[in-house]
Amino acid sequence: PKPEEAEQKRVAVEARSIVKAFGQGSNAIRALDNVSVAIRENEFFTLLGPSGCGKTTLLRLIAGFEYPTEGAILLYGDDIAGLPPFKRPVNTVFQSYALFPHLTVSENVAFGLEMLGRSKDEIKSRVAAMLKLVHMEELGNRRTDQISGGQAQRVALARALAPGPKVLLLDEPLSALDYKLRKEMQIELKRMQSETGITFIFVTHDQEEALTMSDRIAVMSKGRILQVGSPWDIYDKPADRFVADFIGETNFLTAAVVDIANSRATVRLSSGKEIPATVAEGMQPKHEATIVVRPEHARAVKKGGQLSGTVENVVYFGTDTHIHIRLEDGSPFTVRQQNARSEFCGFEIGDPAGIEIAADAAQVLRD
Ligand code: ATP
Repeated sequence: PKPEEAEQKRVAVEARSIVKAFGQGSNAIRALDNVSVAIRENEFFTLLGPSGCGKTTLLRLIAGFEYPTEGAILLYGDDIAGLPPFKRPVNTVFQSYALFPHLTVSENVAFGLEMLGRSKDEIKSRVAAMLKLVHMEELGNRRTDQISGGQAQRVALARALAPGPKVLLLDEPLSALDYKLRKEMQIELKRMQSETGITFIFVTHDQEEALTMSDRIAVMSKGRILQVGSPWDIYDKPADRFVADFIGETNFLTAAVVDIANSRATVRLSSGKEIPATVAEGMQPKHEATIVVRPEHARAVKKGGQLSGTVENVVYFGTDTHIHIRLEDGSPFTVRQQNARSEFCGFEIGDPAGIEIAADAAQVLRD
């Protein structure tokens, strides 16, 4: 969706100034430290961050398995502090699936509907629809201890979606699958989300997974949200060093800020050359700043370029080649260029190289 379209969507889940502390006094751990975020209806929203940053805790607060120390969780504008988990229109898919092994696939999917006291006919048609959604129509009568890991994942999804939650919480649901199956399920999950129109809140520490599946991503570290944005915002315009470093590979450079206005700046590189750069939201004007340039947004050239140095290593990857260059000021810089068919990149270890930075590729970090 275009940004202005997305802007108009209703907010499904809002975390407002959430603090979650575990333990007492000086031993207390602040799992969440003043987290605010608004997740829109029908959005595939991902909480991304390293182990221990608080992703699961935020999910558990939304589910109602934990209560906030401070702040509130709102569902469509209403504070849901008083609603126990089973009364929230929210369901969770866990990493471990937690299927009932003695029941069939269909019985597993029917479970939540039976608890809700739905009629036999309704349960039958709903289970059929859910099995169709997850492409498991053929296996309804199988026992769940006789299906593969990927199939178990699909059953867990069907079971969680069956009661028709408004919001589905997914806590690293793909981490037990092997690489190929994981890639396949990433695409499947995205399809299921857009087919059902349900808001998905997905937790992962895998940046590639987050980039490929999400409408928007919140990058978390140490109990805080550092940046929220679309995958391309997060990748192309990282706000700070942590986000830039956590998402993909990047080059960090120290530069002098010559001029700064609104979201644009002119910066002077260590070579003395000046280039234009975009500025991260929330950056305070200062004389010296860190800028980032993604390796694929620069190329090595024999002559010219805004930076220069010496080639230290050339690593061939099939589709592209990574050229590691030591700049004149001693800092490292990597460029990644696509390989043309049967053509060597033209650089060898020890060669002098210029670096040409693509227009609009440099971003000034907030800190
Ligand atoms: P992971 O990917 O490893 O699950 P996470 O980002 O989901 O990590 P959380 O599980 O939310 O992180 O944990 C955040 C912090 O809160 C961690 O330091 C964790 O040890 C702590 N924590 C979580 N639950 C509890 C609890 N019940 N009691 C005490 N500390 C807890």
